[in-house]
Amino acid sequence: MSDTVSVLLFFIDGLGIGSRGPANPLDGLPDAEPLGIFQDELSPVISGGVLVPTDPRLGVAGRPQSASGQTTILTGINAPATLGYHKQGFPNAELREILSRHSIFLQLKDAGVDGLTFANAYRDRFFTERPRWVSATTAAVEAAQLPFRTIDDVRNGNALYQDFTNQFLIETGTSVPARSPREAARILASIVSEHRFTLYEYFITDKMGHAQDPAGARRILQNLASMIRELLNLLNLDQTTVILTSDHGNIEDLSSRNHTLNDVPTIVWGAGQRDMATKIQTLADITPAIVERAVGPSVSG
Ligand SMILES: [Zn+2]
Repeated sequence: MSDTVSVLLFFIDGLGIGSRGPANPLDGLPDAEPLGIFQDELSPVISGGVLVPTDPRLGVAGRPQSASGQTTILTGINAPATLGYHKQGFPNAELREILSRHSIFLQLKDAGVDGLTFANAYRDRFFTERPRWVSATTAAVEAAQLPFRTIDDVRNGNALYQDFTNQFLIETGTSVPARSPREAARILASIVSEHRFTLYEYFITDKMGHAQDPAGARRILQNLASMIRELLNLLNLDQTTVILTSDHGNIEDLSSRNHTLNDVPTIVWGAGQRDMATKIQTLADITPAIVERAVGPSVSG
């Protein structure tokens, strides 16, 4: 793999760039780096990576939502513009169609990039009783017929649950070991190093935003920041590009239980970070930038 690059897309649901103040759980949070990003004091460099404030509104009125935002991130197609509105929750048939044709996994596969993976595990129930509604990430993975990781993989240290600490699984009766942010980072780093493209999805941030739970929000943001810091330490950033982004704001303003209209942070670390960052302005730019990076420089000319 010496002349190839690995890319990790670290997707965080519901994390926008907010202003400082009591409604923002990141304000005053110790050890919030690299997530402690505030309007009016933006630095282009965050923990050695390049920050690009990114537009999740995509030229469509209303508050950005998960299904259309995630579809946009995972395909490069402006899904809200295609639908004419921001779609909440799970993708409808029109969004599933976009995902089935343009999923980032499919684009990479078609470009001849082998070694694509979704690092998240799903619970047994997903496999035994297929849910009526599936997430944009699920549809994106299925478009390329990639396998899903299981709870056994979580036990064996070969997958992460979206709540990488496993607290939710343990509380709901699944027998899995609790993981510290450092242990979770080690597992993800190992998956990333064995693949050309890895997607990891984390969504408790959006849940905490809707719940308007300041203590819960601070706890999970601290764990998330700590996991990302450790991950960046573990990865060989000469050969790896990490791109963190979100579908819309929410947790950065607990004064409202709605999503926000704020930009979201895209942060690019590692190989080609500066070049990749210049290609990103909106959520529709994420997939094209990753595909270009993962496929590698063209040999023409
Ligand atoms: Zn939400």
